[in-house]
Amino acid sequence: MDLFEYQGKQYFARFGIAVSPGGVADTVADAVAVAEDVGLPVVVKAQVKVGGRGKAGGVKLASNIDEVRQHAESILGLDIKGHVVRRLWIEHASDIAREYYASFTLDRANKVHLGMLSAQGGVEIEVVAEENPDAIAFLQIDPVVGLDVATARRWVAEADLDDVAREQAAELLVKLYVCYTEGDCDLAEINPLILTPDGRVHALDAKVTLDENASFRHPEWEEYRATETEDPREKMAKERGLNYIGLDGTVGIIANGAGLAMSTLDVVNQVGGSAANFLDIGGGANADVMASALEVINTDPKVSSILVNIFGGITRVDEVAQGVLEALERVDITSPIVLRLDGTNAVAGREILQPHLSESLITESTMLDAARRAVALASAASA
Ligand code: GDP
Ligand code: MN
Repeated sequence: MDLFEYQGKQYFARFGIAVSPGGVADTVADAVAVAEDVGLPVVVKAQVKVGGRGKAGGVKLASNIDEVRQHAESILGLDIKGHVVRRLWIEHASDIAREYYASFTLDRANKVHLGMLSAQGGVEIEVVAEENPDAIAFLQIDPVVGLDVATARRWVAEADLDDVAREQAAELLVKLYVCYTEGDCDLAEINPLILTPDGRVHALDAKVTLDENASFRHPEWEEYRATETEDPREKMAKERGLNYIGLDGTVGIIANGAGLAMSTLDVVNQVGGSAANFLDIGGGANADVMASALEVINTDPKVSSILVNIFGGITRVDEVAQGVLEALERVDITSPIVLRLDGTNAVAGREILQPHLSESLITESTMLDAARRAVALASAASA
């Protein structure tokens, strides 16, 4: 689960990491009140779970209340890479002498925690990695040993942080490591970590991803879950007991069982297509579940064709076929549907569909042929 910047900063603060004083605001009036409270000048910051807010006009300095009002007005409702801003974080502005980068993530391949530290922060770390890889100091940390301040001191020297920043940065990094491990993060990133002209080091941004596997020992995460903005289709699917995963392609996929859903995804890729999503209707799906699945997929504007791949076991194919007909009656399905139906009661299922087959309701006898047909229809639609 990703946190908003303000939540990440609150999380940091629990572990003693220095952040600027600030508050959230959902309206222009609230923004003004927070700004008066924390003291001018302030930064008005869009709270969206996507990077590059600064470049997109979502981070603005305000030196007086009029500017706070103007910036709050322009940033609330702003669309940043598909994320509409509903909440602002207003904090007391910092003077910046230097911008650094610091993060911890898991290095799965090497079974260690990985720290990344750079004196060239403030820009995307991917850009630094590309253009100037030597500017990043990597530190592999054995989870059993952990990170002590002596190691952190060597690390900040290796990363070439300014002398005046080193001791504070080393101490902060140890705290960030504790936040990352004890706080059960998948990622704890500060970009930029700043040095102020008067020699203080603190976090100006926060990117925190929590490890959901640890949620059982963090009842306090409930408040973060409450502010999660869910994809409307994911929400709709969840309400109907379906597992929906949104992707970027054009073929909508419905299958029974996660394994079959994923192999269907692979076959679609194999024949040159790409999935817009996949929906696992699970075992024992009946007509109603199938109809719901088609309705969910139908609301996705990326979908140009729908591939239904059912291998009946507990799921009865005749029930599924009935569900397809029900869906067609209930809603206007905008994309052509290609079905591959096999397994329990497959013959009965195909017979149910037979009289209704058309250019937009097609059956194929193998998974490969069905995938080919669905991909061809999708590319014809987008051509
Ligand atoms: P991001 O673009 O989504 O990563 O948002 P950040 O929180 O990292 O802010 C982007 C940039 O805005 C930073 O790299 C800083 O250069 C600038 N910025 C943010 N807060 C302040 C501040 O308090 N004072 C000043 N002078 N600049 C700030
Ligand atoms: Mn940032």
